[in-house]
Amino acid sequence: MKKIIRVFSHKNSYTPIDDYAFYGEPTPLFPLPEHDEIHISCTFTWDKPYCEYLACQWQLVTNKQIKLGGVAYGSPSYDFVQGMYIKPNIIFTSRGCNNNCPWCVVPKLEGKLKELPVYNGNIIQDNNFLQTSRKHKEKVFEMLKKQHGICFKGGLEPDLIDDHFVNGLLYIGAERVKELWLACDTDARIPYLKKACEKLSKAGFNRNKIHCYVLSYGKDRESDEARARTVYESGATPFVQLYRDFSETKTEYDADWNAWARMWQRPAATKAHMEKGTNYKNFKT
Ligand code: SF4
Repeated sequence: MKKIIRVFSHKNSYTPIDDYAFYGEPTPLFPLPEHDEIHISCTFTWDKPYCEYLACQWQLVTNKQIKLGGVAYGSPSYDFVQGMYIKPNIIFTSRGCNNNCPWCVVPKLEGKLKELPVYNGNIIQDNNFLQTSRKHKEKVFEMLKKQHGICFKGGLEPDLIDDHFVNGLLYIGAERVKELWLACDTDARIPYLKKACEKLSKAGFNRNKIHCYVLSYGKDRESDEARARTVYESGATPFVQLYRDFSETKTEYDADWNAWARMWQRPAATKAHMEKGTNYKNFKT
């Protein structure tokens, strides 16, 4: 098996920590372990110039092949190698998605949904886990029965939350499930989100466990505020994400949009906002 050094532009809660994971430029203080290749992993398109710089820097300290890739370069990721580019407890049990949401790169990069072998892990990062077959879900539930702090982080499609999935969660044990992340990216998803929250609530999951991604294009504050509020009132904790396209330059939003989004990303601030009804039109910091 090849020994591969992985280099990441930045450290975050997802990037792995092991003897073969490095961050930023090579440093003479840490001699490199024996290796066959070096992979520079680039996630965001706006990091590409820095990652290309890193590739040059790392080429100076090795005579082995350097490979530059990652999501930012549209590298295909049909399979999943546990612990390679994300921490080993974070796993993908499927790749791709059969939907084609206009804001999403997953179908373009990974194609239609494909089920993968199930490794042990407690954070399920699949783009659309609920599109997998019942048989596949049951394999995952069986694996999760031995895990704690379980999170379905990839975004659960509300209209696909059915009794089979809810019973699977109860089979794992509701107390082992820490977070269920739904998605409500357009107003058209609201009726499905409400039904999904109702189902999950009946099964014993509350707002502390049910989270929901809320996409905002940073254009229509009134409409996005109303959607985030509806998500909260439906029994989930909203998490507003300002849209970032995968162009070379990072989409920037003004201080007011960033402050508004941050308020919807912090559960205590969100709760205070919902209870006190603070003005959502002016959040300048
Ligand atoms: S359902 Fe999710 S993963 Fe699939 S295309 Fe839409 S946003 Fe992307």
